[in-house]
Amino acid sequence: MLRRTKIVATLGPATDDPKVLRKVINAGLDVARINFSHGNRDDQRKRVEMLRQIAADCGRDVGIMGDLQGPKIRVRRFAKGMAILKDGAKFFLDPTLGEMDGNKKGVGVAYDNLHRDVKPGDTLLLNDGQITLTVDSIEGARVLTTVVNGGTLSDHKGINRRGGGLSAPALTEKDREDIRFAAELKLDFLAVSFVRRPADVTETRRSLREAGGHGLIVAKIERTEAVTCIDEIIDAADIIMVARGDLGVEMGYARLTGMQKQLIRRTRHANKVVITATQMMESMIHNPIPTRAEASDVANAVMDGTDAVMLSAETAVGKYPVEVVAAMSEVCRGAEEYSLPRSAASHRMDDRFRAVDEAIAMAVMYTANHMNVKAIIALTESGSTALWMSRIRSDIPIYAFTPHEVTSRRVTLYRGVYSVPFNLQHTEVGPLYRDIFATLLTRKLVEIGDLVIFTKGDLTGVSGSTNSMKIIRVTAPD
Ligand code: PGA
Ligand code: MN
Repeated sequence: MLRRTKIVATLGPATDDPKVLRKVINAGLDVARINFSHGNRDDQRKRVEMLRQIAADCGRDVGIMGDLQGPKIRVRRFAKGMAILKDGAKFFLDPTLGEMDGNKKGVGVAYDNLHRDVKPGDTLLLNDGQITLTVDSIEGARVLTTVVNGGTLSDHKGINRRGGGLSAPALTEKDREDIRFAAELKLDFLAVSFVRRPADVTETRRSLREAGGHGLIVAKIERTEAVTCIDEIIDAADIIMVARGDLGVEMGYARLTGMQKQLIRRTRHANKVVITATQMMESMIHNPIPTRAEASDVANAVMDGTDAVMLSAETAVGKYPVEVVAAMSEVCRGAEEYSLPRSAASHRMDDRFRAVDEAIAMAVMYTANHMNVKAIIALTESGSTALWMSRIRSDIPIYAFTPHEVTSRRVTLYRGVYSVPFNLQHTEVGPLYRDIFATLLTRKLVEIGDLVIFTKGDLTGVSGSTNSMKIIRVTAPD
């Protein structure tokens, strides 16, 4: 059985050796993430080029996702590179303090409005929640605090406010430049960090299109503000990322799992795609095998219906980039064995369908899940029919037959969907079936005598025109 859940892995120094990257791809990489928060343009461009070349070499479609840095609020630097904050000590944050002037009494902060966004009694979380401060008072632009949980604070660490509310706009100047860079690199997906509201997503999409980019837009849910208008954000985006790192800091980790399940359910119900991210196999940054808790975390996300699971530092800077992709792949398959379709017959049963291709996709999946069907074949231009289909739980593979490379790389993120390059040459159904069967048989995706379902439109080259479904038995080539 093919693995249905897709794997996103972040590229970085640990995958820069072409031999390592080849192994990562062969271990099951579906989408590579380029994090614009780290590295320079040259590094990023090289990573994209190398990935494309090796993927082509391996005969694999691998999508590429750019991830914008966004307005992460960070402390400036320390004269000594770091300071030790003791429990109960006083510490200040001040946007007017010089770039290198931090010490154990206070540090600069790269956000002029901090003093307007916080009030006495607020909790501030530094370095992903490792250090906690309580706000005592505000003096001018300086925020005075007491250290609740101390530790070592080093240069450029992030600041969050418990409950959210640090309101820097979602797109910085650097992000706008990176959007143009993403367009130039023709990336398949572009992720927006620290989304607050739907306009952040639509604005990114508009800027990317203006720059000539075609990528799908990923909204990273990592602020509490985003949760309050989540349905509108899901509507505005193509893909949702449960960005558990920053989200967990802002809302506290205790409710994070419940929130993750809710986000997966809502996103799938809205016929959009969802990625579960951050610390999934964190211990594998240093160790060759995952902990039971990590395996269980990945398995639960799979069983909840996530389209993809994501690796960050594990592959970007970890010691075992190949092993971690292999381990994640194995855990996904293991979990999939136990997450057979349950909701197949009830998904959107009470909804009305808006489009013909949507109605066909639903009918196909209902049929497939109630018959012994080996494969579903969607002749698709944009991949939208395959997307509709993959929103319904099933253990039957969905093959997106498409002549377009952009579509082939887009479906790399859709659960249970696999691309097959296919040029539609025929207008007669007889030769068309023979061509499809030959393609399936050569790739050993079906056997003679298997029942398959396929969908197509009357017109070719027109997106959204799927209007028919056929149930046919694979016959031998004559
Ligand atoms: P990041 O986003 O890796 O860019 O911080 C993901 C997260 O916050 O979980
Ligand atoms: Mn984040």
